[in-house]
Amino acid sequence: MTAQIIDGKAYAASLRDRIAGHVARLKAEHGITPGLAVVIVGHDPGSQIYVTNKARQTLEVGMHSEKYELAEDTPEADVLALVERLNADPKIHGILVQLPVPRHIDPNKIIATISPAKDVDCFTPESVGKLQIGLPGPVSCTPLGCLMLLRDFVGDLAGKHAVIVGRSNLVGKPMAQLLLRENCTVTIAHSRTRDLAGIVRQADIVVAAVGRPSMIEGDWIKPGAAVIDVGINRIAAPEKGEGKTRIVGDVDYASAVELAGWITPVPGGVGPMTIACLLANTVTTASLINHLQPPKDLTP
Ligand code: NDP
Repeated sequence: MTAQIIDGKAYAASLRDRIAGHVARLKAEHGITPGLAVVIVGHDPGSQIYVTNKARQTLEVGMHSEKYELAEDTPEADVLALVERLNADPKIHGILVQLPVPRHIDPNKIIATISPAKDVDCFTPESVGKLQIGLPGPVSCTPLGCLMLLRDFVGDLAGKHAVIVGRSNLVGKPMAQLLLRENCTVTIAHSRTRDLAGIVRQADIVVAAVGRPSMIEGDWIKPGAAVIDVGINRIAAPEKGEGKTRIVGDVDYASAVELAGWITPVPGGVGPMTIACLLANTVTTASLINHLQPPKDLTP
């Protein structure tokens, strides 16, 4: 068997088209332009590229976009004051502070200051709690993207055994919540799990969110399973020339593709979905702030 490749790049493009449709309707029918503010502190080149992409895609779907680039030595109090100002700004429905922030700033204080109503990254305790009990609100972007891909490619997920490798607040835990809501039987594995290979071999769905290049081997994959590779790992690529690198996932793609039923490539799988889901969350928060039902196709 050779797996069906889950083309996250193409799916994300179609999702952005749908989001643009929802934005146009919010504008035409309710006079609301969803607005996203992105704040970056410091000059990490990776984060800069990411933030620039977010701002560009926000504009492309017709939303209002604001980008704040603050110097590396910006005092914590100034960042918190900016977040407070954005909390009160009616043009803004989503606030994202790009993490990591410089060491003199406490990320927990930033998260605690973001209004839960505008928490498009789903970081605040209130958003996490809503996700847990199934109340409407923003959903962690990467897990939401994984869920959309699974639903679209695999279909009904009820009764399937999902094994999530990784238990971070950003990916593993919210992914488990979402798959539980889909009526999967969920196992969460982590660095202290015994016999990881044996557990992954039982999975109908594997979500790998570890951050270790190609650690999940092809012969761990149950034939026909759906494999969602969240990992983004940069490794040396001497075949491309001296000092060159390339990106790989947490799954050994070449061997897993022979056994899986579906698989996301890296790059081009989950990655493009994350920003698209950030935009989806901004439509959701803009709707909820204005007491409207968020579009059903953008929420779990
Ligand atoms: P974290 O480092 O926060 O969490 C990694 C998890 O993997 C932890 O729960 C850890 O366990 C577990 N782990 C580490 N080593 C092992 C091991 N040997 N066996 C089993 N589990 C292990 O990472 P994130 O969740 O933030 O990110 C995971 C990966 O996903 C990274 O590569 C990241 O770059 C990528 N990513 C990709 C995104 C995208 O848009 N595609 C978005 C976000 C992340 P423990 O808790 O016990 O330490």
